[in-house]
Amino acid sequence: MRVFVASLATETNTFSPLFVDRTAFEAAFYCPPGTHPQTPTLCSAPVVAARRRARADGFTLIEGTATWAEPAGLVSRQAYESLRDEILDQLQQALPLDIALFGLHGAMVARGYDDCEGDLLARARAIVGPGCVIGAELDMHCHLTDKRVEAADVLVAFKEFPHTDFLQRADDLVELCLRTAHGEVTPVSEVFDCRAMSGFMTSRQPGRAFVDRMLAMEGRDGILSISVAHGFQAADVYDVGTKVLVVVDGEANRQKARTLAEALGREILGWGGSGAGPRHYKPEEAIALALAEEGQPIVFADRWDSPGGGVAGDSTVMVEALLRHPEIPAAIGAFWDPIAVSLCRGAGAGAEIPLRFCGKAAATSGAPIDAVVTVRATTDDLLIPFEQSWVSLGPAASIAIGNLDIVLATGRAQTFSPPAFTDLGIDLSCKKIVVVKSSNHFYAAFSKIAAQIHYLDTGGPYPADVTKVTYRKVRRPISPLDANPWL
Ligand SMILES: [Zn+2]
Repeated sequence: MRVFVASLATETNTFSPLFVDRTAFEAAFYCPPGTHPQTPTLCSAPVVAARRRARADGFTLIEGTATWAEPAGLVSRQAYESLRDEILDQLQQALPLDIALFGLHGAMVARGYDDCEGDLLARARAIVGPGCVIGAELDMHCHLTDKRVEAADVLVAFKEFPHTDFLQRADDLVELCLRTAHGEVTPVSEVFDCRAMSGFMTSRQPGRAFVDRMLAMEGRDGILSISVAHGFQAADVYDVGTKVLVVVDGEANRQKARTLAEALGREILGWGGSGAGPRHYKPEEAIALALAEEGQPIVFADRWDSPGGGVAGDSTVMVEALLRHPEIPAAIGAFWDPIAVSLCRGAGAGAEIPLRFCGKAAATSGAPIDAVVTVRATTDDLLIPFEQSWVSLGPAASIAIGNLDIVLATGRAQTFSPPAFTDLGIDLSCKKIVVVKSSNHFYAAFSKIAAQIHYLDTGGPYPADVTKVTYRKVRRPISPLDANPWL
């Protein structure tokens, strides 16, 4: 048994002004064959899962390149083609193969390629032929195109949002591909297109119970795998939106897959456009809410300025609001501002300096803040955990303006866990309000220290209200832009 594994991933916000070239992949995460760390990253978990099974089962594993760029705007044609061809050359060299595994995100858009993953998988199929099992792990925020469903034998998406299950789903993928290669099962895939942009969180109901039922159905009655592709609404591509994928064993079960995918899709549609989402508070509403609630810290997610959504993470809207309430002990971060970090590091811990920071990347990111700040602490690399992975925010600094502590980082990444603050000397238990730059991946780690968790609406720059976005390529009808054809 010969198995190949590689990973090529990012999430593209086609409306973002931040562009991605090859150096963005190399700076964020780039591992040539054999150099992948022992711990997984969000989209390279199949490498770690396959290594474990190779050791346990004694098959030959050939590793290709694994790389990731932090979500941003359009990927350059040269970056995508060079990384794709690097991996496809490795695949060609690895022949003959029984299984080819890919760790993808599924929402990468490059100049000239609206469906990078469909392109990659179709080219991989042409190389390995019909007899090799192709499997890929996808982020649930992917565009589930027909092209990639046809090219692969097995697609498995994360089920959890926050994405706490990327390694478990990689294990599922490897297991299913091995069973397929051994002739134990014959995967047959059916997709129901909800014709809706309707994601949901699994850290709250009704998403939690829904995913628990999905998990309970797998492995029974011929059902091999169930995935919900939530889509990624910040992309103007044909296949944006929610789709349900059911993989069953054998043609005899195809109708069962079709029926189940539709039933699950209609259940999601039944929640309504915002029925599955949390309330989002405007800055002053959020501050009033926090002051009215018992305990601390009250944690707020600045969802529409999360680097995970392909935007900068330098919006100052909430900083301005907190500065209007200087009596409140608060912390906010991590902001992306490499220039401010270099100035703080130059001044050193303990220095009091005039600093202009953040509010630079987009018209909706607020204005830069000018203040006299105290540099609390600096670090050469702010390295924080996210489930089984480690995420680097690069050189970073914490600054204080009175009771407000602020984390500034050189790298653009989400505030996944409290060490983003505590490693820079900020005691979160002393804070009434903590604001994190994350959509929902912060949830698992911060729920351990938060008195309450809420979500902010600071007005952007992420295109949160899709009815205000000009889509040119999206298939119609799709709700909420149009009436939903299934309802
Ligand atoms: Zn995601």
